[in-house]
Amino acid sequence: MNFLEERIRKEAIILSQKVLKVDSFINHQIDVEMTRKIAAEMKHRFVNEEITKILTIEASGIAIAVVLAEMLGNIPVVFAKKSPAVNNSDDRYVHRAFSFTHQQYFDIYVSKPFLNSDDKLLIVDDFLADGQAMTAMLSIAHQAGAEVAGLTVAVEKGFQPGGNELRQQGYHVESIARIKSMNAETGEIEFM
Ligand code: 5GP
Repeated sequence: MNFLEERIRKEAIILSQKVLKVDSFINHQIDVEMTRKIAAEMKHRFVNEEITKILTIEASGIAIAVVLAEMLGNIPVVFAKKSPAVNNSDDRYVHRAFSFTHQQYFDIYVSKPFLNSDDKLLIVDDFLADGQAMTAMLSIAHQAGAEVAGLTVAVEKGFQPGGNELRQQGYHVESIARIKSMNAETGEIEFM
């Protein structure tokens, strides 16, 4: 077990068979030292790539992305925003996605000036589950003509299909903690 897996075992709360709560160090309160360790491990896993920019999505990906961006030489961080679906405008790259938690469509978007075909992106998030957030960011990256060096998350729930589908599509996906199974009744968490 690595440092993040140990912390998850110690502090995470299994809300249901699919939702893991890590509010004490990632999603509500942020442990900066832990964020540094996660970012350092992400940097190590993409050490051979010349990354020019990080793309993440609001809100919880931002903290990890900022610390990682500093480690990669103060490269810019762009975070995709989420808004209720409206008419598309020409000045944004937009990917429309259905939110199961909100039961409505959201537009995930980045303003065009912040991404372009010279960029080589590392896409970062806190969690990877079904892959909706990553798919939206990949769509935005491709609309901009940017190159994608890879995708990285703090926690991958490996029993949901997102990570493996993205790997099958040929993307380099790195998760710092990869959960094989979790049991809401016993509180047990197994890692891959
Ligand atoms: P996906 O789009 O891959 O299904 O889910 C990833 C997104 O949903 C992440 O941006 C993350 O914020 C949120 N998410 C998915 N599953 C969990 C979970 O178990 N715990 C937390 N805290 N966030 C999750």
